[in-house]
Amino acid sequence: MSVKELATASRVLRYVDRAGARTRVVLCQLPLSVAVAVIAVAAPTAWADAAAAPLFAAGILAQMAAALVSLLLPWEQLDAAAALWVPVLDLVSVWLLRNGGPHGALTGTGALAVFPVIWIAGSTLSARIALPTALFGPLLITLPTLLTPGAAGHPVFSDALLLPPLMLTVAVAIRAAGAGLRLQERALRAHQAKLKELLEEAVEKEALLATILDAASVGIVAVDPGGRPVRWNEAFRSLLEGVGWESPADFDIADRAFPVFTKDRRARVEPDRRVLHRAARGESIDGEMVWLGWGPRARALQVVARPVDGDRGGAVVSYTDVTQLAQTAEDKAELVRTVAHEFRSPLTSVLGNLDLALEAELPAAARSRLEVAQGNAERLIELARDLMASSEVTLPIRPARIDLSAVLAARAEAVQTAADAAQVRLVVDLPPQLWVQADPLRIGQAADNLLSNAVKYSPDGGVVTLCAAEACGWVRVEVADTGIGISAEDRPHIFDRFFRTDAARGLDIPGVGLGLSFTRMVAERHGGRLEVESEPGTGSVFSLVLPTAGPS
Ligand code: ADP
Repeated sequence: MSVKELATASRVLRYVDRAGARTRVVLCQLPLSVAVAVIAVAAPTAWADAAAAPLFAAGILAQMAAALVSLLLPWEQLDAAAALWVPVLDLVSVWLLRNGGPHGALTGTGALAVFPVIWIAGSTLSARIALPTALFGPLLITLPTLLTPGAAGHPVFSDALLLPPLMLTVAVAIRAAGAGLRLQERALRAHQAKLKELLEEAVEKEALLATILDAASVGIVAVDPGGRPVRWNEAFRSLLEGVGWESPADFDIADRAFPVFTKDRRARVEPDRRVLHRAARGESIDGEMVWLGWGPRARALQVVARPVDGDRGGAVVSYTDVTQLAQTAEDKAELVRTVAHEFRSPLTSVLGNLDLALEAELPAAARSRLEVAQGNAERLIELARDLMASSEVTLPIRPARIDLSAVLAARAEAVQTAADAAQVRLVVDLPPQLWVQADPLRIGQAADNLLSNAVKYSPDGGVVTLCAAEACGWVRVEVADTGIGISAEDRPHIFDRFFRTDAARGLDIPGVGLGLSFTRMVAERHGGRLEVESEPGTGSVFSLVLPTAGPS
């Protein structure tokens, strides 16, 4: 069944449903009553003595009675089957009209039986009752003619003979059409019920989703492919409200004034670099941190974003408020920085004084004690330096166009003395010039860490090689040693703050476990990475990989 047919059938059903029982009965009765009224008016003109035919008059009266009954009875309150007495009365009326006409001149009115037959055949009456009624009703109507002696062979006789089977055929056809219609009606109702069920299910799911979203303490927003919020939860709304934005609905993704800042709070994030925009473009984001808002209202947010599968596109972005955590980390780092800084000044003075004291003529025992003190003071200064560097959570970098070869060569020279003391041969293999966009101070510190580690963790001497090369927009700085190496279990942890391998501790090699975490931070802030390959007892290779064009 096509959609158009379904719509038509549904309109008919709706009309019939809406029409009351009385209207339905009147509508069924009306055609016959009108036809009989016409005959009643026309008959006296055609046959002057029509009024004198009592049966004919009774037929008219019976039809009037049927019309009045259909009009006046309270069909809404009666059983639906009760209305079927009206077509029965109609059959009686037709019998009277046909057989009571003046001189049998109105036998043709027997055809009017088609109206009650249609009514009965189209009713809810079972076929077992409806079809025999459709046959025997008309048969009774034509019976007087059929029983008239000598009527056989007369045209009226054959008409009378044909009428009952004709009516039966009409009834069967109506029945078949009705059955088809009922099937369609049933299908339509089933279709409507299914639609209703789906609608209710959708409404239920929608309510559930809204509850789940609002129960989450994390701000969640769904954006369309243009980055405009289309759906959000309560937490996201109050997040925006907290930073002074009225409603997500007013949110204009391209608005530069919207206060989004980088993790270190130093720079504003341009609209097309914001997570909402990137997520809408299909990028997956995992735990990126941004700051939203100014001053005391600013919130630190950890963002996770996933593109939405399907044709409509867009993305879902969640914001976890980590302001407290970020604040605590900043406070802690600030404390470490202050303490380390406060340590450095007196230690520098201690070292200076020890240097001066060691310049003087001293007894051998006193000199050796002072040298021990000097060594320890140097280690403490180094520790303070490491602590200060590693506590810079948001390590600022100032990239410039630099000759990386020159920076690395200078760091290699600085480590030469320590290498000599440890009987380590330092091999430097650098190109004459290597131009990159990087912060010379931070890259120098990173190279320092890698070179001094390579020397430090080669307690039996060996070879430390420093080399660098450029390829495909990246430079790779490698520091290789033939030292103690790092086990496979330790390798994943060596970039963690304060982590030291058992081997390093066991050999009493000084250190605090901050250098590599700092070096990795330097690499990442430049948009690069720090890699390690190592074999215990064979040595290690640390590779600092940086983009030549600098951080993006
Ligand atoms: P530190 O050297 O001060 O302990 P790092 O963060 O520089 O701290 O290094 C972390 C740990 O990684 C070291 O304690 C050491 O166990 C291991 N490690 C680092 N570099 C090497 C190396 N070149 N060879 C072997 N082990 C190393």
